[in-house]
Amino acid sequence: MENGKQVTDIYGQLVFSDKVMRERLPKDVYKAVHKTIENGTHLELDVANAVAAAMKEWAMEHGATHFTHWFQPMTGLTAEKHDSFLSPDSDGSVIMEFSGKELVKGEPDASSFPSGGLRATFEARGYTAWDPSSPAFIKDGSLYIPTAFCSYGGEALDKKTPLLRSMEALSKEAVKVLHLLGSKDVTRVSTTIGSEQEYFLIDKDLYMQRKDLLLCGRTLMGAPAPKGQEMEDHYFGVLKPKVSAYMHDLDEELWKLGVPAKTKHNEVAPSQHELAPVFETANVAVDHNQLTMEVMKKVADKRGFACLLHEKPFAGVNGSGKHNNWSIQTNTGVNLLDPGKKPAENIRFLVFLMAVISAVDEYADILRVSVASAGNDHRLGANEAPPAIISVFVGDELAEVLKSIEEGREFTGAGKTEMEMGAEVLPHIMKDTTDRNRTSPFAFTGNKFEFRMPGSAISVANANIVLNTAVAEALARIYEELKDVPEAELETKVRELLKKLLLEHKKVVFNGNGYTEEWVEEAERRGLDNLKSLPDAMPRWISEKSIELFTKHKIFTKEEIFSRYEILLENYSKTRHIESLTLQEMVRKDFLDGLISYTTAVAEEAAKKKALLPDSPCAIETHIAQKLDCLSGKILRALDKLSEDTKAAEEKTDALECAAFYQRVVLNDMEVLRSYVDVAESMIPESYLPYPTYGEMLFSLR
Ligand code: ADP
Ligand code: MG
Repeated sequence: MENGKQVTDIYGQLVFSDKVMRERLPKDVYKAVHKTIENGTHLELDVANAVAAAMKEWAMEHGATHFTHWFQPMTGLTAEKHDSFLSPDSDGSVIMEFSGKELVKGEPDASSFPSGGLRATFEARGYTAWDPSSPAFIKDGSLYIPTAFCSYGGEALDKKTPLLRSMEALSKEAVKVLHLLGSKDVTRVSTTIGSEQEYFLIDKDLYMQRKDLLLCGRTLMGAPAPKGQEMEDHYFGVLKPKVSAYMHDLDEELWKLGVPAKTKHNEVAPSQHELAPVFETANVAVDHNQLTMEVMKKVADKRGFACLLHEKPFAGVNGSGKHNNWSIQTNTGVNLLDPGKKPAENIRFLVFLMAVISAVDEYADILRVSVASAGNDHRLGANEAPPAIISVFVGDELAEVLKSIEEGREFTGAGKTEMEMGAEVLPHIMKDTTDRNRTSPFAFTGNKFEFRMPGSAISVANANIVLNTAVAEALARIYEELKDVPEAELETKVRELLKKLLLEHKKVVFNGNGYTEEWVEEAERRGLDNLKSLPDAMPRWISEKSIELFTKHKIFTKEEIFSRYEILLENYSKTRHIESLTLQEMVRKDFLDGLISYTTAVAEEAAKKKALLPDSPCAIETHIAQKLDCLSGKILRALDKLSEDTKAAEEKTDALECAAFYQRVVLNDMEVLRSYVDVAESMIPESYLPYPTYGEMLFSLR
């Protein structure tokens, strides 16, 4: 820690936190803001004025000269436009101003953000609205105000608005069910999220030499290094000093911003790492994850690294995800997914558990869409990540509990048991009710679910919007079934309903190994979807079922659903297009040059040898030169095909057809081209290669 400071001294030092507000705001103003945050109620302008004044004072004391409304457009990144507090006075001097109106509302030009046809091009106006439930903070001399972003007509143009809507929908439905079950003191529930972020760190100089990493975030070619992750020696391994120093800086920067970074370790692949935060309310957690990604890159740059957030930067080793730990917490402090000591007797827990299982089964396809991106397509279904098939892992004990419900008998399991470690000196620890299952895309992990499909690069908002809404719908259905049941019969009826839901949805429960081929076949027999790519999955987003779900709970209007459909597909096609052009350029301009030079050099050697040793039967040089020459021919033909098909893709006007063509044809062309290039690369000395190899990139950090 710098200058002997404690973590507690720096934590949140750049955040306009609840504590700062309590110290600086008049009592009644503080109370009003607090009420808004707690209950999601509207904030009056006079209160906003008072908050703005205090915010400005505080921000200026911390060196800020500007403020910005910070929002999350549908690009999946964050956006900001900075205004200074400065306002000229009539006497030629300046005063520093910031009003309540400027705090609550901004009017950025929306015309250059994707809207998927929501906003006519002549109507450029967009609005940002302050989200008081996510704290403002200072970064690079500006006061950052988290906001939601919408069009002139009120349609959401961002990821935060629907997230907030989905949190409200879930709260509303959960409270109704809780009241039925006797928890009358609960007035609100919030979704909690802890999103573990995986990333790669590589040397910055090497990164700068690779056009594919610079332009696409992933390598488009590259022969595998002699060593990959097969030794399993990186996961949780000792941190290298440079990496450790990076993580130290990263923690410190995040802590200052009030991001509760908690755990750091090496991941499975070489050069891959993970950061996990302490969980927070969903919208704050999403904001903080965006900040985490940004700070990861910034600190990496300072320390001579490049931080790769792409889902699959290197072929052949694990990709990166963003495990979304998710639960529901009441305003009375109860985690509704905590089974307690005796899960079988905890009716409230069982109802919420069953609601989640039914929701995931019923809306598995829409959940699949929520994690679809060009990058994540490389990861889902590969050997490290969950397959594209969505299933739920509940663990042995809960599986037994569910079975007893299904069979209508008492659960006789023992709950937590003590673990036998065979050495008296070790402390006695209790076993958890669930083991870990690393292969499930949606695993119950003790008192929360862990959704493992989200990709490392994309905002985790989408996954949570869908999850919250699907669970809200499952709870709404449960409420409808139970609302008129007399209290005396409630427990019996709840058990009957749980049994019915279980029979209907148990096909999604799977406790085995999700990476095996048998599971793929078994899942097909069970009728579960296996939507392998984004273009495969997208039609489900605009299905009647999806539209009904989202419009019923007022998360998206039909127009908003279609706009997101267009944007996701367009984004997919654009990504593949850039990748194709980058690969073509790298091969044509850089790689072929090295290949030709080396082939020529070897051929010359062959000729020399022949002159010197005309009768020698060993003609290794000739052999190599011929093989490389033959590969050059294949590479040229594959290049031509890729180039032609990419042009054909450009002509496609229908968004889905275009994306599907990129996926089916162009991506395949890229793989074919790459396979020849990689073979050739493995035969060429590094001095002839125009860019660093996998081996250098993955193993050069000290
Ligand atoms: P592990 O997955 O290694 O067992 P933890 O269970 O401590 O580790 O937590 C993993 C992640 O889950 C952390 O980001 C943590 O904050 C988050 N988490 C823990 N409890 C909850 C909860 N109730 N809701 C959401 N996320 C949670
Ligand atoms: Mg995890």
